[in-house]
Amino acid sequence: MIRVGILGSEGRMGRAIVELASTDSDVRIESLVDVKNLLRTEITNKKVDVFIDFSSPKATVENLRILVEHNVSVVIGTTGFNAEELKILESAAQKIPIVFASNFSVGVNVLWKVIASISKTLAADYDADIVESHHRHKKDAPSGTAVTTGQILLDAKGVNYEDNVVFGRSGRNNMRSRDELGILAVRGGGVVGEHTVIFASDCDKLEIKHTAFSRETFAAGAIRAAKWLLKKQPGLYSMQDVLEFQ
Ligand code: NAD
Repeated sequence: MIRVGILGSEGRMGRAIVELASTDSDVRIESLVDVKNLLRTEITNKKVDVFIDFSSPKATVENLRILVEHNVSVVIGTTGFNAEELKILESAAQKIPIVFASNFSVGVNVLWKVIASISKTLAADYDADIVESHHRHKKDAPSGTAVTTGQILLDAKGVNYEDNVVFGRSGRNNMRSRDELGILAVRGGGVVGEHTVIFASDCDKLEIKHTAFSRETFAAGAIRAAKWLLKKQPGLYSMQDVLEFQ
């Protein structure tokens, strides 16, 4: 039995995790933390093995300080961190065990694995772009998943992500280079999450698409990560570590 706390428990993802965890006899939800019920009070009153955080970058960074003080592990699914916030996360991971993933869906993690190999094989002759779609309430753009996908894709090609990524395109004289990677964000309605990776040559096109039908796919991955994290040493782990991909 693992005692879990939820950070962002009243949000879309928080509610999906609470619902799924209530059907899992190996998980007990011990603490629900949101803006009305703050972590500092909860953590001193409840015994939690692992917190699962789907909140906002600002909230995650604030709560990390308290989790480090109390030596409690955390699974982080929040996206949209800037470089400074990512450094705070990395330094917290020297003191507590953290699983951090921009996407907890097993399907997306398999996509990341195959994208690296496809990108390496097609690098010389194919242009690559990523199109992502999400619901109208999503705050950050492009999605953390699209950014991770782009980093994996360009790493495999052996080119620098920061120097070659463009977010959308406009203008009259804007021809792409072979190494350029376009990431385009679509927002609307209730789309849970769609990511399409496009490889195009002069004579054919390969598209690989992942569609999340519901938030349960992320919730299931986050609960799996929390169970895996239980007895781990401090460190920054990924969902690829949880799935034990070679
Ligand atoms: P949401 O806005 O519905 O929920 C966020 C919740 O966090 C809100 O209830 C808010 O009140 C709460 N919150 C704010 N400050 C807080 C604090 N200090 N302590 C605790 N809770 C606080 O958002 P959502 O759709 O549930 O998504 C949350 C995050 O998870 C976003 O960054 C989103 O991009 C990300 N996300 C990641 C994955 C993944 O697989 N990694 C999947 C879906 C969403």
